[in-house]
Amino acid sequence: MELYADIIVDITHEKVDRTFQYRIPDALREEVRVGSMVVVPFGAANKEITGYCIGVTAIPSYDKTKIKDLISLKEKGVTAQGKLIQLADFMKNRYGVTMIQALKTVLPVRQTVEGREKRTVTALLSQAELSALLEQLEQKHQTARARLVKALMEKPELSFEYVTKDLKISAAVLQWMRDAGVGTVESIPLLRNPVQGIPEEKISFTLSRDQRYIIEEITKHRQKSGPGNYLIHGITGSGKTAVYVELIERTLARGEQAIVLIPEISLTYQTLRRFYTRFGSRVSVMNSTLSQGEKYDQMRRAENGEIQVIIGPRSALFTPFEKIGLIVIDEEHENSYKSDLSPRYHAREVAAEIARLHGADLVLGSATPSMEAYHAAQRGEYRLFELNERLTGGSLPATQIVDLRAELKEGNRSIFSRLLQEKIADRLQKKEQTLLFLNRRGYTGFLSCRSCGYVVTCPHCSVSLSLHRDGMLHCHYCGYAQPQVLKCPKCGSAHVLGFKAGTQQVEEKVREMFPQARVLRMDGDTTRLKNSHQAILSAFERQEADILVGTQMIVKGHDFPNVTLVGIIAADLSLSEHDFRSGERTFQLLTQAAGRAGRGVKAGDVVIQTYQPQHYSVQAAAAQDYKSFYAQEIAYRSLLHYPPAGCMMAIQICGKEEKRTADLTRSITEQAQKAVRNGLKLQLLGPGEAAVYKLKDTYRHMIYAKAAEREPLLILKNILEQYKVQTRPTNEKEYMQFDFL
Ligand code: ADP
Ligand code: ZN
Ligand code: ZN
Repeated sequence: MELYADIIVDITHEKVDRTFQYRIPDALREEVRVGSMVVVPFGAANKEITGYCIGVTAIPSYDKTKIKDLISLKEKGVTAQGKLIQLADFMKNRYGVTMIQALKTVLPVRQTVEGREKRTVTALLSQAELSALLEQLEQKHQTARARLVKALMEKPELSFEYVTKDLKISAAVLQWMRDAGVGTVESIPLLRNPVQGIPEEKISFTLSRDQRYIIEEITKHRQKSGPGNYLIHGITGSGKTAVYVELIERTLARGEQAIVLIPEISLTYQTLRRFYTRFGSRVSVMNSTLSQGEKYDQMRRAENGEIQVIIGPRSALFTPFEKIGLIVIDEEHENSYKSDLSPRYHAREVAAEIARLHGADLVLGSATPSMEAYHAAQRGEYRLFELNERLTGGSLPATQIVDLRAELKEGNRSIFSRLLQEKIADRLQKKEQTLLFLNRRGYTGFLSCRSCGYVVTCPHCSVSLSLHRDGMLHCHYCGYAQPQVLKCPKCGSAHVLGFKAGTQQVEEKVREMFPQARVLRMDGDTTRLKNSHQAILSAFERQEADILVGTQMIVKGHDFPNVTLVGIIAADLSLSEHDFRSGERTFQLLTQAAGRAGRGVKAGDVVIQTYQPQHYSVQAAAAQDYKSFYAQEIAYRSLLHYPPAGCMMAIQICGKEEKRTADLTRSITEQAQKAVRNGLKLQLLGPGEAAVYKLKDTYRHMIYAKAAEREPLLILKNILEQYKVQTRPTNEKEYMQFDFL
């Protein structure tokens, strides 16, 4: 059997669609694989050029007799680019996308910024040759050409501006220069470093025993048995970053490079400073404020070996380093590590593959590890380390849970419990600051009983039902629907209501109740302008306000030493989001919010208001007890086979025409059911309407599939995509999206 290799000859983002097929000679069969750099004959003249192999197949795509043989392997090992191609191959299989889609995700977009490049005119002839040429030109009285050659004799590299402006050389003369092989015009992009001018300095403290233990264990393991995967569970301020910095130092000392992922929102000056003071110009940062061209420059600088450490959000994973020795993912539980574009990859999974390809250590860190990471640690896939002491001083805040049902029973209909009111008044008087936190993410349509806390949930999926415009309560996983509940099925109360309170309302209520207080608000509305997010936080930090009201934006990144009270208006808001991660998210948000109190020398208080005071997410967050949370949450996930106790895929079917979209959803569902009848090992849920059914004039339906393994889900994806192509091939207004949850 013959084997054929798909080759791309110009490995840039824009050109990856152009592949060429070559036959692999027998002698190279063992060696040519995805990621190999090879030499191929190209074009009619069979010019030898280099390219990369992106796939190997036994089935040729063209007439076999017209396929040329690949010439040789250019490099024995796999280059940095080759490893990115291997990574794309992994993503192709893991997320069920095409190789081209995967390559477009991992390869940088080549772009240089106009005006930011340095153009030079460079001589290609030797001094003697130039001298001979000059003589000829002078004899023929070709003065402009002579002027240029003379200048090149004096200095073989001239700036383009000097040549065109000062020497007044025309485009025609430059063309002659190129055609005659006298010289060339080259453009060198000016490689930029986005952060500069922070002095390098050594750290002033000695690492604690716990910190040293982690560093030594990782180092020892590397020397004895090779790279490993690690999870550091440690509260904010417990010294995780200091551990990362030391590990990076050791990585660089071995001549290897490091990638550090930090959520964009935490990429503050204070954080970056710590890396810059230690690594100076060897480190660079990537974030969304960089232009496409600047991002490309960072990639080039990494490739050239100018930088050894990159810090950034998830896309920093695709930095083309030669030999990656360490990947750090800080705050690994953050949602932003999941891509919202196809392929919807998770940084944790991709990082693990990069670590495998390069032989790097992978270190995750979090105060509230994701269920995925902790589950993996429990199964021995990650080694778990703990840091339990807060090194920044300050004590853990005292947390109180307020039962809002009792408040109502005693006649308090305000959104603030009496305890929270008292404490706010107390802080105003002491001139200390308060954070009021509304943990809602977006759409919440759930109903709950204000008398007993009962939340209307789906009998099949254990997630909250949400109220739709048709007046029915819907489950977004399985499509189950029931009439709206007017009376509480548990206690008979008529106080079954939705939650309407938003940040604006909370702000108004605060102003009503405490007219003397200076109040700031931070949410999607007040932070629409660039930098306004930072401006509000800084104003609050400078104590220009007494109370900051906000969504989860306020619980991340910043340190407010004068905040001694954190009030959570209703834990129920995130608890009753209709998906299986609502308990986990609530635990994370409450823990983070509580961590904002008592950062300074003064002790802090946290008040959590809720209608479900007995819920384990609330209880565990109040007690700062991750392990108890994990134990109960994993039991729930296991019972219902939700990830990480199983695999789950969301299929979204979208269309502009309501009826056609519903029809398509029906036939897609039938296809999926047929696949299951034919033996595909998975469980289907739905179809149902999406949480937001109509968005931007597009109707959206959901089907979910659960399975013990990922394989059947990928097969289902494939079947449905093929079905869609066959039955509605040309309709671009209808499409499907797949997401592994
Ligand atoms: P985390 O990343 O877990 O939030 P950091 O590494 O940022 O923790 O440490 C929190 C603070 O404690 C930082 O200001 C850091 O400079 C300081 N710190 C870290 N390790 C030590 C130590 N061993 N001794 C004293 N201070 C330390
Ligand atoms: Zn009730
Ligand atoms: Zn359901």
